[in-house]
Amino acid sequence: MHKFLPPILLPALVALFLATGCEIKPAKNSGDLNATKKISIVTTTTQVTDIVSRLLGNACRITSLMGPGADPHSYKPTAHDMTAISTADMVIYHGLKFEGKLASILSNSQSKVRSYAISSKVPQNLLLDSDEEEDKYPDPHIWFSPELWVICIEGVSEFLIEELPEIKEEIIANKSSIIEDMKEVSEWAISQLQSIPEEKRILITSHDAFRYLGQCFDVEVIALQGISTLQEAGLSDRTNLVDYINKKKVNCLFIESSVNPKALQEIAKETGTDIGAPLYSDAYGSADNQSTGPNKKSYPHNTWEGVLVYNILTIMDGLRP
Ligand SMILES: [Zn+2]
Repeated sequence: MHKFLPPILLPALVALFLATGCEIKPAKNSGDLNATKKISIVTTTTQVTDIVSRLLGNACRITSLMGPGADPHSYKPTAHDMTAISTADMVIYHGLKFEGKLASILSNSQSKVRSYAISSKVPQNLLLDSDEEEDKYPDPHIWFSPELWVICIEGVSEFLIEELPEIKEEIIANKSSIIEDMKEVSEWAISQLQSIPEEKRILITSHDAFRYLGQCFDVEVIALQGISTLQEAGLSDRTNLVDYINKKKVNCLFIESSVNPKALQEIAKETGTDIGAPLYSDAYGSADNQSTGPNKKSYPHNTWEGVLVYNILTIMDGLRP
């Protein structure tokens, strides 16, 4: 049932709109609210887009450079991306060299665009080293650690509150709700995995995206490639992996949504192991796909919670004896 608003409420509603709308340019005609321009924010990976869009709600215009299935390691901005970056009010990215050469492009950029790396507040000693001999850099797949991802969420919230103080309360409320949901899903994930015997909790994948997940959720993680999808598995890596699978009687290998599955499929054939459904590694999925997690809630795959619920259910399906 619709009712006309009492006139006394209208100025209050206009004030509320102005306080939560991130306007940067008031319209010439103050009566025309649609003519105002929203703050525009460019986000890079699906992980960053998930957090920034949920912290801000509809307050700003968010343009995501990468979508489901994208491989950030090999990311090269298109001309269209460069225009989006140079015309944005802010760019929020992952950092830790996750998005290929993006950080150097941002620091060399002639434009004065404000940028923030979501990983920048994570203490160095909590990051895992990559196993690569040369060009040592930290493992960037930190969203698979609930603890580290909360540090990132706290950090980017502080940055956004500094930039957009007029929506401080909204950002704080959204942050608390995200962290609460993450805690619920993390506790559910740990209890689910406990039903798989410890010696069977082995996750073998194409590239090394799941070391933080292994550390936080007590799963042994082995990858054919190193940290980056740009490396190819050498012959010795392959032989070692085949020996390991045979020795441990591993019954399932896992391919990833954003990595070529060919090498792992060949090893599965050679060792007679099953291939599980593809896991989400470097990119989240689409909001159209959902998985049922704790308390029978549906979690869309374009969110941290949805990706964790889906990955845990997929790992359980593959590893269950
Ligand atoms: Zn990766």
